[in-house]
Amino acid sequence: MLKVNELFYSIQGESSYAGLPCVFVRLTGCNLRCSWCDTTYAYEEGLNCSLDEIMSRIGAYPCRLVEITGGEPLLQQETPVLAARLLDRGYTVLIETNGSKNIAMLDSRCVRIMDIKCPSSRESGSNDFSNLGRLTDHDEVKFVIGSREDYDYAKAVLEKLPDFFKIKNIHFSPLYDIMTPVMLAGWMLEDGIGARLSLQLHKTIWPDTPCGV
Ligand code: SF4
Repeated sequence: MLKVNELFYSIQGESSYAGLPCVFVRLTGCNLRCSWCDTTYAYEEGLNCSLDEIMSRIGAYPCRLVEITGGEPLLQQETPVLAARLLDRGYTVLIETNGSKNIAMLDSRCVRIMDIKCPSSRESGSNDFSNLGRLTDHDEVKFVIGSREDYDYAKAVLEKLPDFFKIKNIHFSPLYDIMTPVMLAGWMLEDGIGARLSLQLHKTIWPDTPCGV
């Protein structure tokens, strides 16, 4: 059983899978309270669903890419079980996690998209940096950048990332409505930074609604 906030079909917006059709399973609950959180509705609201029911709802869409997100999906015990079931059925599974929990609980076939919280989130103290050593070369890391202080923090963390990480795996995402992409792009070009400028594609497509169909 998992508590599901919403399950929907949309365009993946914030990773190297951006632009692809994707089924999203948003799980309820989060252990953090980021200052700029745009999914506060997922803190409590949701319905308990069996794994069979979730699998069947996912199977109704013409899509083999699934993202399990939140909230924080690693708070619920059965999340790794759902991920493994999907992988066994041939789905590509992305897991978006806030980086505060041990990511080793997930099947290594999952693509773990792990946030590293910067100071303006007011949750940078919650990062579990031991997760950096658990990342594989198909995982991804995301920094949401809302200020110059955030950018400098992210730059310093890049030094600690494993050597096998390639440019495609690291995303710098400007905080929506706060940091202009042009300003962040300028800093990245100035430093020749080994990260990808990642814009929230779904917010460009559907600026007034949180998701797709
Ligand atoms: S980790 Fe994600 S869901 Fe949780 S408070 Fe931060 S932005 Fe919101």
